[in-house]
This record gives sequence, structure tokens and C-alpha cells, in this order.
Amino acid sequence: LWEQNKPFSIEEVEVAPPKAKEVRIKILATGICRTDDHVVEGMWPSKFPVIVGHEAVGIVESIGEGVTTVKPGDKVIPLFLPQCRECKYCRNPDGNLCIMTDLKADGVMSDGTSRFTCKGETIYHFMNIGTFTEYTVASEFAVAKIDDAAPSEKICLLGCAFSTGYGAAVKTGKVTPGSTCAVFGLGGVGLSVIMGCKLAGASRIIGIDLNKDKFEKAMAVGATECISPKDFTKPISEVLSEMTGDSVDYTFEVIGHLETMIDAIE
Ligand code: NAD
Ligand code: ZN
Repeated sequence: LWEQNKPFSIEEVEVAPPKAKEVRIKILATGICRTDDHVVEGMWPSKFPVIVGHEAVGIVESIGEGVTTVKPGDKVIPLFLPQCRECKYCRNPDGNLCIMTDLKADGVMSDGTSRFTCKGETIYHFMNIGTFTEYTVASEFAVAKIDDAAPSEKICLLGCAFSTGYGAAVKTGKVTPGSTCAVFGLGGVGLSVIMGCKLAGASRIIGIDLNKDKFEKAMAVGATECISPKDFTKPISEVLSEMTGDSVDYTFEVIGHLETMIDAIE
């Protein structure tokens, strides 16, 4: 992606060998997350040109000096939220926002340089990885080894959407059995929230989306009913109060808009 608000282009990219404590990965499958689109639209900071994509699975192709936890041939998921296991955030059992996460969008590896070049120009990494590419380089602490038999086109979703949504319901929200949940946004992450709520034993799971085409899949993964704000003139919080006779027990905002976050809190 050479510039903000421009279409992607397919390019021959040179991917440098991994340096110390890094691995080079052959990407087998990658998902598309709304966050990638946030970069295109400028809602998420990034340097350009950049290789986005952060929800993938691949095979370790080569390893740099000092890498001990994975070897060539291992199937791995690159992690945009790494786990250095040393910083205070990694050590905190309630957190996972490792200090090595590229929240400032530097777009480079730990040594301050990129492994991608194209037409002689430096191309930046997205969130220390970048997966819309046949090969990428990641730090050793930013890869998770997985079962070789895991199906690539499904397991890549563990790199972002599934873990984010499912974890929000099961680990962060700690949804309780018999509860009522409202899920705003039925994309990849929202559907994963629904799966988490269902597994946690929620008895009512209300899916909310402007796009009714999303309802069928939401119902298939565990929503008990779905509504569109377009069908109501009153605020969605009032609609939910009426539907439940009081209020829902848990709400999840899985769209990424301030207005819908306010709706979910209300
Ligand atoms: P998506 O685009 O696939 O899904 C969003 C859904 O929201 C769509 O179905 C859309 O129709 C619906 N929607 C949009 N505006 C709406 C409105 N006003 N009212 C009701 N529905 C509306 O997105 P996704 O990939 O599932 O990601 C969802 C959000 O989560 C994004 O903002 C993304 O950046 C964020 N995200 C965060 C993390 C994280 O924090 N770790 C991880 C992944 C995604
Ligand atoms: Zn994502």
C-alpha cells in the first residue's frame, strides 16, 4: 500500500533474511481485518509504503542467530501483539499489551530497520509483522508455534479476529451462564464474540448490525436474535431495554465507532 486512500498494488518485494532473534515465515493464509482497512483510510496510524495484514498463518522458512523456540518447517501464527514475557505488561496476568507492540506505528523491527524493500525503497511492516505478502519477518517472541495439522485457511483467524472476539467474551468480559449479551457489529470479530458468549452459556445473544446479510451467519454461530438499527426510530439502547424488560448483562462494541460505543454503554 503505497499511500493512504489508494488501492493496493501487487509488487515484487525483497524480503531480507532474518536477523538475530528473528524468523522468516512463508505465509500460507491471511485474513482481512477491518483494522487493515483503518490503515487505508487513515484511521490507524502508519508509515507508507506499508505491507499491512496481521491475521495469518505460515511456515518458518529460516531463522536468525539465537532463535531457540522455533525451527524451519514449524507452522506458526505471527503475532501483532507479541509476548516478550519480560515486560511488566507481559508479567501482569490481566494484561497482554506487551511493551514491544508497535502502537506508535514505527513500522520497523526491534533494531529500527525494515526487512522489506521494493524498487529500491524501504517498505514498512504493519504492527511488527505485515502478512499480505508471500514471506514476512517477525521477532521470535512474535510467533506462536501451532499444530502442523491445523487447517491454514481457518487457523489464520486466530491471529486476530477469533482471539479478539472470543477472548473479549470469555476472558475480559467473563460472560456468565444464563446471561443476556448484546453484540454490536457482526463482522469477523463480532461473530467470534458470539461464539464466546455461547460457549460461556449466555441464554440470550442479540446481534446488532446495519447489514441484515450478516444475520444468517450470526444465528448459525449462536445469536438467538438479530436486529438492525435501521428498523427503529428510537435509540437502540431503548429498543434493547424493551426487548429485555430491563437491560442486557453484557454489551460488546465490535464496530469501532464512537457513536456505537456510546450506544453500547447506554
Ligand atoms: P467488520 O467490518 O468485518 O465488521 C463490522 C460490522 O459492523 C459490519 O458487519 C458492519 O455492517 C457493522 N456496522 C458498521 N456500522 C454500524 C452501525 N453504525 N451500527 C451497526 N452495525 C454497524 O470488522 P471486524 O474485522 O469484525 O472488526 C471490527 C472492529 O474491531 C474494527 O474497528 C477493528 O479495527 C476492531 N478490531 C480490534 C481488535 C483488537 O482490539 N485487538 C482486533 C480486531 C479488530
Ligand atoms: Zn485485526
